Amino acid sequence: MKQSELFTKVAREAPKDEVALNAKLLARGGFSYKNSAGVYSYLPLGWRVMKKIEGIIREEMDAIGGQEMFMPTLHDKHYLKATGRWGVDVVFKVNDAAGKEPPFSLGWTHEEPVSEIAAHYVSSYKDLPFAAYQFQTKFRNEPRAKSGLLRGREFLMKDLYSFHASEGDLFEYYARVAEAYKKIFARCGLTAHYTVAAGGDFTVSHTHEFQVIAPAGEDTIYLCGKCGYAENKEISKLEDGAACPQCGGPVGAKQAIEVGNIFPLGTKYSEAFNLRFADERGEKKYVAMGSYGIGVSRVMATIVEVSNDQNGIIWPESVAPFRAHLLALPGADGAGAYAALQKEGVEVLYDDRELSAGEKFAEADLVGIPWRIVASPKLGGDTVEVKRRGKAGAGRPASLSEAIALVKTGKES
Ligand code: ATP
Ligand code: MG
Repeated sequence: MKQSELFTKVAREAPKDEVALNAKLLARGGFSYKNSAGVYSYLPLGWRVMKKIEGIIREEMDAIGGQEMFMPTLHDKHYLKATGRWGVDVVFKVNDAAGKEPPFSLGWTHEEPVSEIAAHYVSSYKDLPFAAYQFQTKFRNEPRAKSGLLRGREFLMKDLYSFHASEGDLFEYYARVAEAYKKIFARCGLTAHYTVAAGGDFTVSHTHEFQVIAPAGEDTIYLCGKCGYAENKEISKLEDGAACPQCGGPVGAKQAIEVGNIFPLGTKYSEAFNLRFADERGEKKYVAMGSYGIGVSRVMATIVEVSNDQNGIIWPESVAPFRAHLLALPGADGAGAYAALQKEGVEVLYDDRELSAGEKFAEADLVGIPWRIVASPKLGGDTVEVKRRGKAGAGRPASLSEAIALVKTGKES
């Protein structure tokens, strides 16, 4: 894409009302726009990143047999009333006429609707197990709105729900989801620690969170420096410097961002929606369920929090809005290089605007695309300069075809 045609622009200053680094950098780069507190638009560059993250999650969900679907945002009140969650403080209510009790809530999570749907289709043990997921906007009236896109009042979540004939089968699948989550976060360039976390009224045991160490994190976890075992402070009896209950190694308190959370729900929701199946002997039993969330927008914001320098964002290749950023410096023509990159199937943002070299470099650093290719009048004919974002020093000269090969493989020859 030609940058001259991109409707957003890079800003020198961050919006005054943003305090979180992720929100500042994403706003300056033209990735997101804050419509109101905790409510963001994803602009073309940001939406490309979101789609990349979504693509990684989708591949891993499909690999464990998840069936993608899409449920409503507007939830009739009978759903939350059935599980006693109508009164949960973060739930937004929607009126259709003044003065009456609101007939709807906005989806903040989807256990209730999915349980009712499952009850419509499940009758026998032969109908189990299965798992279904969606990417959907969730609404939560979050009191704290200082964390930028880490904590939206409206945000994109992937939520997966699984349905089983026994608790044993649920926990087997739970472990598979945990493995899928590890792959997802690693592919997004994040180190996420599998962390024991609080259960709740609706779970059969502890839950597990995936926590990324970052100063901006709102959670505190106790992480073993030796084996990686981690517990959320909310449930932990550990303290800073304690011995790891698994291996005896040193445990340290860390600030962390929860990017994912998995819940063994058991039968609480199936009881509320009469989700039952007949077992081999014809005996009616409640379905055991699991629920598994990842905040897609929070993942994007987390990547920004942990992958940046004083000049801006450093996107991992797997989620970058483009793979290459082609800069044509004043007096150079980048059209040939642009055509060649496109022909080779490289996703490229082509800075064809009339700006000084300094401005182009500064903006490119802020936007954070992994590979920078520079066409300059100082370089002869077919030569460009290629540089990895985040790598110190100047770019190195290369022929256009060498540069393309480098960008495509990601390997310095
Ligand atoms: P938190 O403890 O951060 O409030 P939660 O435990 O209430 O989150 P879950 O209901 O477990 O969140 O949601 C699943 C995932 O959705 C979380 O792991 C997180 O990645 C994401 N998420 C939750 N709340 C938000 C939010 N307000 N903004 C963006 N992402 C969110
Ligand atoms: Mg959670």
